[in-house]
Amino acid sequence: MIEIHNLQKSYNGVTILKDINLTIQDGEIYGLVGRSGAGKSTLLRCINGLESYDSGSLKVDRFDIKQHNENEIRHFRKNIGMIFQHFSLMERKTVYQNVALPMKCWGYSRTDTDKRVRELLKVVELEEKINDKPRMLSGGQKQRVAIARALSLNPKILLCDEATSALDPKTTQSILALLEKINKTFHIAVVIVTHQMSVVRKICHKVSILENGKISASGTVSKVFLEQPQSLKNLLGEEEDELILGGGKTIKITYAESGDNNRILSDMARELNVGFSLSGAKLERYRDAVLGAIVLTVDDERIADIGQYLTERGVSWEVLSND
Ligand code: ADP
Repeated sequence: MIEIHNLQKSYNGVTILKDINLTIQDGEIYGLVGRSGAGKSTLLRCINGLESYDSGSLKVDRFDIKQHNENEIRHFRKNIGMIFQHFSLMERKTVYQNVALPMKCWGYSRTDTDKRVRELLKVVELEEKINDKPRMLSGGQKQRVAIARALSLNPKILLCDEATSALDPKTTQSILALLEKINKTFHIAVVIVTHQMSVVRKICHKVSILENGKISASGTVSKVFLEQPQSLKNLLGEEEDELILGGGKTIKITYAESGDNNRILSDMARELNVGFSLSGAKLERYRDAVLGAIVLTVDDERIADIGQYLTERGVSWEVLSND
């Protein structure tokens, strides 16, 4: 378990991480999302002990790097694997040698190393590339090698720093599916740093949004999406504005598709005897839910009734514009 309390970090007098509070449970897939420069990578480097911090506390399975010497931190870091945007493979070494490297550094026997490397290349489906050099591989294959290498010491946590940002959408999907499989098979916590909400939607259980070094929203992915905090809107942009057709008030309703509310609009129309026109709709598939935003144009004088009806049923809504 990763437990972070009131963590503060600065570089040259400039505060980069402010009052970070975060708990990541064993076996969870956790997204840290935010714009470039928000402090995501710095936070990741604090988690794996590559960077220290100024105040607060950060414990990984009760190990706080502040309480330990360099050698102890080196051993601690065996429990944490990490992958990067540009893979960081050794170009002169083969796929086999790249994956074997951490075990070689730690003095594992040849037999143990050989067994583990072959096992991992099977997991990442690269057995036939075992003797290839990285330059002969596609981006997705390189990331698979990096994932196998990151798992070689049997870590409890896998940190992914923009691991799919250099990949095309289809390859991104296959790497995310692989991360999900690894999470399930080995019960490894996966922490995903990304600027792409689509990555969070696809596989994360929970998410924190970082803005200027602060966590501005946190929780399960569906909760954060449903609450629509301003920081999420900043990340997603306000695409809905283009959907507005005009005539009356335009409201945006955000909801999770479930047995309870998939008839909410028709129920509302009947019970309140209101009409509306549909100005736009967007349904998105998340890891374990379908969440949607619907934009309706309604008569000005009915907006209060409609708002009350939705609020009473726990559905969030907002008026997008007056005209
Ligand atoms: P993100 O991963 O969200 O893009 P980073 O954690 O890389 O953000 O960076 C957060 C801020 O910290 C940026 O303003 C960056 O310039 C600064 N920063 C990161 N690393 C260093 C460093 N080693 N020295 C000084 N400033 C740094």
